[in-house]
Amino acid sequence: MTSRSVLKLVDAHSLTEGEGFPIRRPFPTSSCEDLDPFLMLDEVGPVQWPPGKALGAPDHPHRGFETISYVLSGEKLHEDSTGKSQIISAGDVQWMTAGAGIVHSEMPSADFKAKGGKAHSFQIWVNLPASHKDVKPGYQYVSNADIPVAESEGVSVKVIAGEVFGVSARIGTHTPVWLQDWSISAGATEVLPTPQDFNFAVYVFKGAIAVGSERMPIVDGQMAILSTGTTLLMNGHEDGGRFLLLAGKPLKEPVARYGPFVMNTKEELISAFEDYQAGRIGRIQR
Ligand code: MN
Repeated sequence: MTSRSVLKLVDAHSLTEGEGFPIRRPFPTSSCEDLDPFLMLDEVGPVQWPPGKALGAPDHPHRGFETISYVLSGEKLHEDSTGKSQIISAGDVQWMTAGAGIVHSEMPSADFKAKGGKAHSFQIWVNLPASHKDVKPGYQYVSNADIPVAESEGVSVKVIAGEVFGVSARIGTHTPVWLQDWSISAGATEVLPTPQDFNFAVYVFKGAIAVGSERMPIVDGQMAILSTGTTLLMNGHEDGGRFLLLAGKPLKEPVARYGPFVMNTKEELISAFEDYQAGRIGRIQR
C-alpha cells in the first residue's frame, strides 16, 4: 500500500473563451500542460447573465479526442454535424466523442438566454488513443436524475465516469477514465483505493479539502496533482468542499494539438485543418 501525495499544486488561470464568457482554467497552462489522458479542464463561470446577454461557443470543429460538458447551473443547447441536438440542463452531462471529426455548437438555450440567470459548468477534454482517433463521432448524454450517486459517511459522489464505493458510471469510455463530482463534509475523511497506474488530480471549486498523505489544504480554484499510489486520502477541510476528481490510465502517446484538434503528429493536424476548411468534417444543418 502506498498513499498518494501531492506532486504539484496548480492555481487556475482566469480568462475568457468562446464569444467572451469567463472561465477558470487549471490546465493547460504554463505550469501544467496536461494530465494524460486529460487535455483540458475549464470551469465556466459561475456568471450571472442579464436577460438576452448569455454567451456561448458557436459552430466549431473537433477531431481526435472527447469533450465533456457538465452543467451545474443554466442550460445549454448542443447542435452538431451528425444532425443531433441536445438540451443540457443543470446536473446533466454530455460526453462527446469527436473521433474522426464533428462540428458542434454550445450555446445558451433560447429559454435561458431570454430569461438570463446563473451559468456554471465544466468543459473537460479527454484524449483518445491513436487506435481510436478515427472512431465515428457521437455523444453519450446522461440527465442529472440518471447520474449514479455513491455515498459514504460525510461523502457524496456523482459518478460521471469510472466507479467509486462499488457504484459504476453509465458513461462508457474508450480507455479507463474516472470523472467524478465529490462533496465532502467538514471533518469527513475518505481513503480511496486507487488503481496504481492511473494519473490522479483533484480540482476544488467550492470550499476546501485536505488531500494526500500530507493532508495538504486545497482551496477553491486550486488543483492538486497526485503522485502514484494505491490509496488517496481526502478530507473535508474547514467547512468541507466540493471538487472534481479526474483520473485515468495515461496513454503515453505523442500529442500534437492546436486549437480544436488533438492528434499524434503534426501531419495529422495539418490534415485536420485541411479537411475542416474543405468542409469534409461537415456542418450543422439548420
Ligand atoms: Mn467544443
